[in-house]
Amino acid sequence: MQLLDGKIVSQAVKNELREKTDQLKADNKRLPHLAAILIGNDGASETYVASKIKNCEEAGFKSSMYRFNTDTNEDTIIAKIEELNNDDEVDGILVQLPLPKHISEEKIINIIDPLKDVDGFHPISVGKLVQGLPTFIPATPYGVMLMLEHYKIETAGKFAVVIGRSNIVGRPMSILLSQNTNPGNCTVTLCHSRTTNLKEICLQADIIVAALGKVSFLTADMVKENAVVIDVGITRVEDATKKSGFKIKGDVDFENVAPKCSYITPVPGGVGLMTIAALLKNTYHAYIQKNNS
Ligand code: NAD
Repeated sequence: MQLLDGKIVSQAVKNELREKTDQLKADNKRLPHLAAILIGNDGASETYVASKIKNCEEAGFKSSMYRFNTDTNEDTIIAKIEELNNDDEVDGILVQLPLPKHISEEKIINIIDPLKDVDGFHPISVGKLVQGLPTFIPATPYGVMLMLEHYKIETAGKFAVVIGRSNIVGRPMSILLSQNTNPGNCTVTLCHSRTTNLKEICLQADIIVAALGKVSFLTADMVKENAVVIDVGITRVEDATKKSGFKIKGDVDFENVAPKCSYITPVPGGVGLMTIAALLKNTYHAYIQKNNS
């Protein structure tokens, strides 16, 4: 069994971007700039945004963070996004999800300029993704693809099962794995909460991507020998021995599944780190696209 190490791969991505930004600095050019909007004070969201900002610094990017109280009205957020859309010095806009209930996720995603949609959630980005056109790919499935590429995992002709059909992870993941690309060219089955024979489907899979948000859901009896298992799940579980009071658990029963796998991602230290690396790559693409237009 080989571990797919998000730390190593994400660092490689950041080093590559750092070389590019060092060159931009040396040439006295403007640096890629990511603007992040955080509404409310959800602990996990705070951690994610702080980590994205920190990683921007490591890659030599500029970043800005705009914080709003939970009860901020939708129009205020929309006005901020429009301001950032019109700001020539901003390349990528990220609105950290989930949003407070009174703010429409759909409305907010749709208002972001598709040329700055580094999360890849805008319908234009999704439409292009489905058609296999160049676009911003949602960061988590993009990060998984970068990881498969880094470890040169053979995917062509393999049977891949994705568990979870969300717009941000499962569905785009299934599309990417099915595309005529490398990695890609898998035969893909997308499973969800209404799938009736999940265990039998998983047992046939050469590659399983678990993205449902249920701790240790994928157990050893659902995985065939030598499968590649990608664990996207991130759930905070109470742990009094930790300073924070919780630990992070994935969707895979790692201890028992790992011995059966050819490759497996750990949680933490796997896909989560790759998500941020992919976001940085999208931001750099947005910057290049802007400067070439
Ligand atoms: P979501 O709640 O939007 O979607 C969960 C999906 O799982 C749904 O499509 C549902 O149909 C499916 N599902 C639920 N129960 C199931 C069951 N018993 N059998 C089969 N399918 C079932 O979640 P999401 O936003 O896609 O996130 C999934 C997980 O990935 C969460 O733990 C989330 O925290 C994590 N996540 C991690 C990263 C990362 O960077 N690693 C990024 C985004 C999300």
